[in-house]
Amino acid sequence: MPSVHQGNFSNRQTQFSVRRQKIIQQRKSLPIASVEKRLVEEVRKNDVLIIVGETGSGKTTQIPQFLFDAGFCRDGRVIGITQPRRVAAVTVAKRVAEECGVELGQKVAYSVRFDDATSGLTRIKYMTDGLLLREALLDPYLSKYSVIIVDEAHERTVHTDVLMGLLKSVQLARSSSVSGGQGLNLGNKNVNVTLEKENDQSGSVRKKPRHEKFAPLKLIIMSASLDARAFSEYFAGAKAVHIQGRQFPVDIFYTLHAETDYLDASLITIFQIHLDEGPGDILVFLTGQEEIESVERLINEKLPQLPQENQKLLVLPIFAALPSEQQMRVFAPAPSGFRKVILATNIAETSVTIPGIKYVIDPGFVKARSYDPGKGMESLIIVPTSKSQALQRSGRAGREGPGKCFRLYPEKEFEKLEDSTMPEIKRCNLSNVILQLKALGVEDILGFDFIEKPSRAAIIKSLEQLFLLGALTDECQLSDPVGHQMARLPLDPIYSRALILASQFNCLEEMLITVALLSVESIFYSPRDKLEEARTAMKCFSSSEGDHITLINVYRASNDFLEKRSMEMSTTKCEKVYKKWCKENFINSRSLRHARDIHKQIQEHVQQMGLNLSSCGDDMLQFRRCLAASFFLNAAVKQPEGTYRALASGQVVQVHPSSVLFRKKPDCVIFNELVQTNHKYVRNLTRVDYLWLTELAPQYYAMQS
Ligand code: ADP
Ligand code: MG
Repeated sequence: MPSVHQGNFSNRQTQFSVRRQKIIQQRKSLPIASVEKRLVEEVRKNDVLIIVGETGSGKTTQIPQFLFDAGFCRDGRVIGITQPRRVAAVTVAKRVAEECGVELGQKVAYSVRFDDATSGLTRIKYMTDGLLLREALLDPYLSKYSVIIVDEAHERTVHTDVLMGLLKSVQLARSSSVSGGQGLNLGNKNVNVTLEKENDQSGSVRKKPRHEKFAPLKLIIMSASLDARAFSEYFAGAKAVHIQGRQFPVDIFYTLHAETDYLDASLITIFQIHLDEGPGDILVFLTGQEEIESVERLINEKLPQLPQENQKLLVLPIFAALPSEQQMRVFAPAPSGFRKVILATNIAETSVTIPGIKYVIDPGFVKARSYDPGKGMESLIIVPTSKSQALQRSGRAGREGPGKCFRLYPEKEFEKLEDSTMPEIKRCNLSNVILQLKALGVEDILGFDFIEKPSRAAIIKSLEQLFLLGALTDECQLSDPVGHQMARLPLDPIYSRALILASQFNCLEEMLITVALLSVESIFYSPRDKLEEARTAMKCFSSSEGDHITLINVYRASNDFLEKRSMEMSTTKCEKVYKKWCKENFINSRSLRHARDIHKQIQEHVQQMGLNLSSCGDDMLQFRRCLAASFFLNAAVKQPEGTYRALASGQVVQVHPSSVLFRKKPDCVIFNELVQTNHKYVRNLTRVDYLWLTELAPQYYAMQS
């Protein structure tokens, strides 16, 4: 009936305008709102500006809008804002689109690896720092940008650091191009990259000269930490402005003794707060998806045991691999009478500000990259946070009123923490960024203007790895076509190489699945109380050859299941039975879905490159040989006592209990990941023949023997 329709419509209209009013109000009340004019003025006056402001003051969401309104997007130019994390890029873009009252993907959009929501209309573009680096490969002058904001610079991710070096030279080149000056100067040797790269059919990259004049580029470096000196010095004494934030007092509580199990301790603390403390949401910092999902499950299992009136607790996870609609749920206010408990990685430390938080639980750990250049091995380890991270985390409790922070370690431990975190560039494998710098035309990597130089040993080790992978020639130039092809793929060089080789071994389909699944956190989940059940469920997929083929079996089985069901039932029903199937098989449906997205994207890339998309069917010998040829740097042989010796580094490692090869250990394996807890474990293994290594990777093994 028309009248009913009209009624609903106007109701929705009212809700909409109430929400808009609220957003306008919120924007006006942010600390940054009162300094809009001054900030815009500073950006006009300074080519490089450093903005320091407390988390939640409005830097990320407001400054791009101020600049847009001030005319920085005239002539179709774009304001680019980089974030170290994809979750931040996605959620902030959604929020800003809403604040501007536009649809996401038009004026405001995001672009992250494997997910680009931008269009020709986009003027405010949130992206990851890694993505902007990749863009520079196609457009070395970043010509469409009028302003680039490097956000969260205090995080000092390896991409942020390299990006700052690159932007410095792009800015110089663009201002001198206006005055008819020279090209891009990267590194000491004044390398000429006044070039535009174009792809030819073979997938390699051609360079052609380009003569164009560019408008100057404005650079803004934003940081949540007070110490802006390092940035200011790096950018020739650039001006730094400070934005006052609002911070209420936060009471800090410590445990009396060290906790043996911080997940358990977090769980207990969540329920203590929920039962004993007044209203307000809880934010818990955990180290990754697996921990978050395990705590989520435990809370939801315990909740029904509480009296009915205490069950109003809403658990909301936030981490990178979560589909973005679910990421946004943490920002919505809890339904009346409910308390939200947000389980987050350190994304919630400074990158995104979640309203409503009054209690913070900080177990004091973070997952970090660690690299040993001597051994050439990178690993992910769980390490104590730094003091400044601990302070940022507790600060999240005092955004809207006085709050409480529960640090799950004794007070004397706090004093032992490092003041701040070491920049990532000093503790990671550099082959990925070196490959990109090479593709940008930087010849002298050691001479590149890094804000903080990585060690010479780490640079040399990474160059050596790239050479062994065939990406560099004897003269340290990018090889043609392999090096150029590898630089184009948005993957770790070792995975890019595996895909290129797989097309020669006729198993590209299998390798695509493998790389996609290795790019997400484990697709299996094994709750602590159901380990045996999980192991039994896994048996029907497991291959005695190892984990890679097991992963392929899962992927294929889930595809078959989906294909069959999607013909028989509606999409919603299909999704439901699929989730049930995953649960019964102890498969993480979120991770699998994420892997499926990644698979699709990489497949597009390799198809564009013209690689041969073939399958080896059931001939897994071929596939295993390809794994040996690709991952020869990660080979290990069994020792008499059942441990393994990694051939490249000489390290003694153990098979991770999650591997299908845990019980029946073959003589020689390749692996993909080294995890360090109390032991050094290798994960994702496949049995290979030792002789294949000398046959398929003579550049390394012939040299060694
Ligand atoms: P900063 O970058 O200075 O840390 P932000 O610009 O990210 O600050 O956030 C400013 C304000 O916007 C915060 O108070 C936060 O609560 C609010 N905010 C940010 N994102 C969202 C969102 N997705 N939903 C609701 N509020 C948000
Ligand atoms: Mg921010």
